[in-house]
Amino acid sequence: NVEASYVSESNRMSVELYEKACKVMPGGVTANIKYFEPHPIMMEKGTGSKLYDVDGNEYIDYLLCYGALIHGHGNEYVMNAVFDQLKQSGTPIFGTPHVLEINMAEKLIELYDGIEMVRYTNSGLEATLLAVRSAMAYTGKHKIAKFEGHYHGGSNQFLVSVNPDVSQSGSAKSPNSIPESIGIPDFYVENTVVLPFNDLGATEDRLRKHADEIAAVILEPVQGGFIPADIEFMKGLRKITEELGILLIFDEVKTGFRVALGGAQQIYGIKPDLTALGKVLGGGFPVGAVGGKKEIMMISAPNGGRDILTAGNSNNNKKEVLFHSGTYNGHPTVLAAGLATIEILEQNGTMGKLIEKTNRLRNGLEHVYHQYGYDMQTIGMGTIFNILLTSDPIKNYRDMDKANMDLRKVIDQKLLALGLYTKPLNRYSMSTAHTEEDINRTIELHEKALKMIRG
Ligand code: PLP
Repeated sequence: NVEASYVSESNRMSVELYEKACKVMPGGVTANIKYFEPHPIMMEKGTGSKLYDVDGNEYIDYLLCYGALIHGHGNEYVMNAVFDQLKQSGTPIFGTPHVLEINMAEKLIELYDGIEMVRYTNSGLEATLLAVRSAMAYTGKHKIAKFEGHYHGGSNQFLVSVNPDVSQSGSAKSPNSIPESIGIPDFYVENTVVLPFNDLGATEDRLRKHADEIAAVILEPVQGGFIPADIEFMKGLRKITEELGILLIFDEVKTGFRVALGGAQQIYGIKPDLTALGKVLGGGFPVGAVGGKKEIMMISAPNGGRDILTAGNSNNNKKEVLFHSGTYNGHPTVLAAGLATIEILEQNGTMGKLIEKTNRLRNGLEHVYHQYGYDMQTIGMGTIFNILLTSDPIKNYRDMDKANMDLRKVIDQKLLALGLYTKPLNRYSMSTAHTEEDINRTIELHEKALKMIRG
């Protein structure tokens, strides 16, 4: 029974615009994730850690465009890099190779252990898709394995795993492959093996069973940005995949530059075969990138490719090339924003301070909730975390059922009304723009929300 306390005079314009939006866009939104009840809030301006809606309300923003804005809104250095790039190039895009593509690739190779070569895309989804196609081409196999509840973007195959109807889900050790959306052809469901996260034994069993068909295991090293893989699980997964000739793809779209400059692979000390990046990499502009071992990446080189694998084929001079293209790939404005973003992160102590700030907020929130008698924990890694109303350990998607999501929703609705923006139930991301005052105020607002609920 969610009390929509923020639907009031102070959100009049948002409501009016939302009603207009509903007439021209299904549900009034351009991405389902942007919808929440009773209506989304229309934003108009962002500065530093703050968002301002069309009614002039101010919010401390922890959504940060789903983690993309690691320096908050309108960071001067990043904005100037974009303006300077546009001025200097005299055009938004060349449609040809250019130097920023090289500069960014060199930076990614320097920072990410698993990256030896790079290709750009325009979104995280395009990056995960390219990684999977590369893996299939490289191994000559046609299935992928993914973990239950892990998100890799909204393509047909990545939307195979969980369904609100839990009766279809199968056992925890052997989850069923089920579509998460209507409109997904059976082909994708049949060719996607779903694995239980953080359960090495059951994962190994399933991988061994389908080893001849599985091209790659793709995973979020930190599921949803907040449920970390156990270190032993990760080490074991690397070992088994190597043994079985299955590629390991780290989807670091969320974790890249957020759990460490070099992503989760830096924290775990594990080299994936391929890495997908996005979000922070574009400094707030649409971006994605795939990086990985040279031998795998080179199959998309027009002057390289892969020997034709036809059985009995003796003519090894013939090569097949992996198709990868995109009008806007490696967009100069986007890469200028991304390079400026990384430059700030690389300044001495920046990442450490950002993580320290995140931990201060987490500790402060835990203190308040415990004071008010709630079973609550924050879980996460680096600069991302989530608030879960349970004290039970959370190791995978199914464990999330242990947390009280209804109460969390009510709290989030109150927080919206009080001036804290995070889409209900979403994780929190930290930015370099958030101040000590923001952190203290955030803790105060949570306390206020809890008091309102207690009545
Ligand atoms: N992979 C992960 C782990 C993500 O979190 C996301 C987006 O949230 C994606 C892939 C898809 O990225 P995009 O929304 O840029 O297509």
